[in-house]
Amino acid sequence: MTQSGVPVIRVADLKKYYGDVKAVDGITFEVERGEVFGMLGPNGAGKTTTIEVLEGLRPPDSGTVEVLGLDVRHHPQSIKERIGVQLQSVSLYPRLTVTELLDLFGSFFSHRVPTKQLIEAVDLGERAKAWSMNLSGGQQQRLSIALALVNDPELVFLDEPTTGLDPQARRSLWDLIRGLQERGKSVMLTTHYMEEATELCSRVAIMDHGHILEMGAVSDLIGRRFKERAVFFDSNPRLPADQLARLGGVTRAAQEDGQTVLYSSDVPGTIAALLATTDGLGVEPHNLGIRQATLEDVFLDLTGRALRD
Ligand code: ATP
Repeated sequence: MTQSGVPVIRVADLKKYYGDVKAVDGITFEVERGEVFGMLGPNGAGKTTTIEVLEGLRPPDSGTVEVLGLDVRHHPQSIKERIGVQLQSVSLYPRLTVTELLDLFGSFFSHRVPTKQLIEAVDLGERAKAWSMNLSGGQQQRLSIALALVNDPELVFLDEPTTGLDPQARRSLWDLIRGLQERGKSVMLTTHYMEEATELCSRVAIMDHGHILEMGAVSDLIGRRFKERAVFFDSNPRLPADQLARLGGVTRAAQEDGQTVLYSSDVPGTIAALLATTDGLGVEPHNLGIRQATLEDVFLDLTGRALRD
């Protein structure tokens, strides 16, 4: 067993290039036992490459990569016994049932969780005898998580666990992942959904072009950059930018997704000044609202680009 206090993942200056493509270009991070750690970034950021190196599926070019205190280059087999890896697709064996697949995967390991218990854990009891090809998208993802749990792993890797799912199926997967953490497991996941990272992760690393741009608890990442809250509204015509910037409390005015957004350190003062201004101009603001900054704002601020679903 790993001693408590030793990180479940330790990566230092990891590099992995494919020819000229610097997929992972010198990243350093640690994941503590019991954390749900998220790697957030757009397509091509290097998330999958990182997770595959950690799983022992790709050799690193350089750097330190330790999983459960063991070097992935020297102890791949011992690591595989103790980690869970979610496969991207369970359609490999379309005509095996849920039960048969779990039995089959369980047979690869000396230490295994009973199939019935796994089926209950992922709430697939009513589909236990169904062919995997006949499961819904959400059920297939739940099965792929059950398959990652057959050896009762200490650390579970989930690569974009909810991509392509509808909101309801996504929320049910989130409950499942929270349950893993409650049962003492450490989880590393990748996602390009900022809401998913915000909901699930104790800490996130924001990755882009093979680099980690920022890392920390979501609230810290937001708080470090944005002391203000955002006041947003639609208006026709749009109000002049210089006038908006002069409203009380406004530190920055922007147009985002067709809406006017005012970052404000004094929300009541800004709204009062805004309404006085629009009244004076005979313009009516619509869909007026207030929100905290989000991870999306952090990504936009870091890269100048939106991180889109
Ligand atoms: P996605 O969300 O699309 O999976 P990602 O953040 O997981 O993106 P990676 O899949 O790690 O990113 O890819 C990082 C970069 O490396 C991309 O430019 C990709 O095209 C490239 N790449 C990935 N795998 C290979 C490969 N086997 N051969 C060559 N280039 C690769």
